[in-house]
Amino acid sequence: MSRTALPLFPLPARPNGDSLPVGNGRGLIDTFGRRHTHLRISVTDRCNLRCTYCMPEEVVFRDRSELLTFEEIVRFTTVAVSLGIDKIRLTGGEPLMRRGLPDLVEALHAIPGLTDIGLTTNGLLLPEQAEALRAAGLSRLNISLDTLDAGRFRELARRDGLNRVLAGIDAAKSAGFDRIKINAVSLRGFAELDTLPLARFCRERDLELRFIESMPIGAEPWNRESVFSAAEILELIDGEFGPSQSVPDQDPSAPATEYVYGDGLGRFGIIASITRPFCGACNRVRLTAEGKLRNCLFALDETDVKSLLRDNTPDEEIARVIRQSVHDKWEGHEINTARFLKPARTMHAIGG
Ligand code: SAM
Ligand code: SF4
Repeated sequence: MSRTALPLFPLPARPNGDSLPVGNGRGLIDTFGRRHTHLRISVTDRCNLRCTYCMPEEVVFRDRSELLTFEEIVRFTTVAVSLGIDKIRLTGGEPLMRRGLPDLVEALHAIPGLTDIGLTTNGLLLPEQAEALRAAGLSRLNISLDTLDAGRFRELARRDGLNRVLAGIDAAKSAGFDRIKINAVSLRGFAELDTLPLARFCRERDLELRFIESMPIGAEPWNRESVFSAAEILELIDGEFGPSQSVPDQDPSAPATEYVYGDGLGRFGIIASITRPFCGACNRVRLTAEGKLRNCLFALDETDVKSLLRDNTPDEEIARVIRQSVHDKWEGHEINTARFLKPARTMHAIGG
């Protein structure tokens, strides 16, 4: 579909007329000089897995009426794009559990100025949805997979599903997605066994593996010792494939450091949030499924934008609130200091 085609659902009339753009031309720059161009949008807090590092086993999910509607997400994103956001990533919970997701992708794809729409998924529902998402204009896909062992998958996700994820990866490739990334959370007790099989699997299938050091944002107790670090991952990979070469940063705000395997056959990345924090280059803001704007994954404060979207608030005021949130962003997450305070929400309710 072309970017100018009409969306599949009616967009709300703008209370102040069609007055965009409301940007001030300077972009979303915080007090540390970081320009914000990336918005992560959670479309649901529901999930069909229960990964131990992400969410508790028992959860009361939000009622559908509490979630932002697609119209509200599109309106908010349109204002954010007018302020300089050009990339979004849809996430959750499990985003593919939100009914009609390709319709949302199609409407977002029609927003002029938005250059890139990504999605992070656990892959379970990709066999049914990969083609429709691709046709709707989804540009990039990250699929989460921590292990190729069915028993450890069940231990980590508290559910079965490995074969569905593998089928999801195949479906994504058949639908024409390229440069698919595989996200693997790096946890001591698992990564020692899973790092190399995942690396071999991804190299054989031309998938880009990205290890993510486990962060203190789940329901389970966390400590630094539970993180299988970037240095330990590199030691394993280098031992198997020869010394990896780091790739010069194409995008300094990208959280992953990229490497070429020692034998030159393919690339992988490591998001070392704990042992090599990258807050200094952060360019991200987040919108939760029920419409709270967060300027950091670990933010303790958030701004309610759902009430603004449901209150006929003019775009200028929504833009002001976004600018204010970015302005108020702190320097970094402080996980490595005694000052660190864990946010009340766990990862599934923020959007990773
Ligand atoms: N359900 C989807 C999925 O699993 O891909 C999207 C949401 S999930 C919260 C997004 C990403 O966050 C996944 O790659 C997941 O592995 C990662 N994640 C969740 N909890 C994490 C934690 N405590 N530390 C690091 N990454 C985490
Ligand atoms: Fe669900 Fe993704 Fe969290 Fe796992 S990481 S519980 S798949 S939201």
